[in-house]
Amino acid sequence: MRANEPDPLSFFGGSTHAPAVRRFLLIALALVVAGGGFVAWKLNDRPSLEVMQPRVLPEAPPRANEPRIRFLGVSTIAIGDGESTLLVDGFFTRPGLASVLLGKVAPDDEMIRSGLARAGISKLDAVLVAHSHYDHAMDSAEVARQTGALLVGSESTANIGRGAGLPEDRMRVVEETTETTEMTFGDFRVTLIPSKHLPHGMAMGEIEAPLEPPARATDYLEGGSFSMLVEHPRGTMLVQSSAGWVDGALAGRKAEVVLLGVGGLGMMDEGYRAKYWSEVVEPVGARRVIPIHWDDFTRPLEDPLLPMPRMLDGLDATLAFLEERTAASGIDLAWLPIVAPVDPFGARPGAEP
Ligand SMILES: [Zn+2]
Repeated sequence: MRANEPDPLSFFGGSTHAPAVRRFLLIALALVVAGGGFVAWKLNDRPSLEVMQPRVLPEAPPRANEPRIRFLGVSTIAIGDGESTLLVDGFFTRPGLASVLLGKVAPDDEMIRSGLARAGISKLDAVLVAHSHYDHAMDSAEVARQTGALLVGSESTANIGRGAGLPEDRMRVVEETTETTEMTFGDFRVTLIPSKHLPHGMAMGEIEAPLEPPARATDYLEGGSFSMLVEHPRGTMLVQSSAGWVDGALAGRKAEVVLLGVGGLGMMDEGYRAKYWSEVVEPVGARRVIPIHWDDFTRPLEDPLLPMPRMLDGLDATLAFLEERTAASGIDLAWLPIVAPVDPFGARPGAEP
């Protein structure tokens, strides 16, 4: 090649070093392709859901005054009794990995509308936000707007509401560090108990001003975390969205069923998992544990939910831990079907009576 002839593979046009540059670029390209292929392969390496299948609670059609819950991915859980309906978190947009890591995210009105419709929700009494990370809180204000719900959460969550233009009288700000807050919605009594997030250190801190989307996923700062006790004449549930705790915070509380957030739990050590169990499941005397926050929330809700890739969360370790702990303590380990309504307190076929 002559010195002035442009080399199609070179960024530098003509160069006396063209063959060396070309070799370098080819090697770099091969490395990028191989690296990308390796990451793509690793992102598809996921634990199997088969062990959960026999433990999935049966669908139970809605019935007046009977609580039903619906799992809508991550820790988005609809809880209703035909009279009142509550939604924990309310995350439907589930943006893809590229926009989460490199771009900006924003609530998708259409995905929220179709997610709510799939769950049979047209009207909500409250959206109860456990903490303000995007995979819990990003859509909460839009959900409240579409359903007429009161948005309940920390000051950070209220700043998500303000950024979405939700009026102050449609929000209830809950103190997230010391006080316990009780609220009543029909036959449901909800108690928000200050808790802690899994200690991964990502996007911690407070959202201090109204947050207007689109924003970076990491702009959705945690803003404090809650445990939620949901009491109903038919039974009591504890919803623990994030795998953290405050020592002794649940002492004296009672719940038959714990919806146990396991996101990131597989990356922690055995001692951490044991302490989480003894601070969240044991104090309330649960007879059933239902894991939540196990799915890969960079995939849309219309697609089958898949567990997090092994490289991002060690769900195998979590599953082994849960199997061992529930078997040792006689607690029923159950899973929720996607979207379908279930009776959280009802029998699971095949379970010990
Ligand atoms: Zn979080």
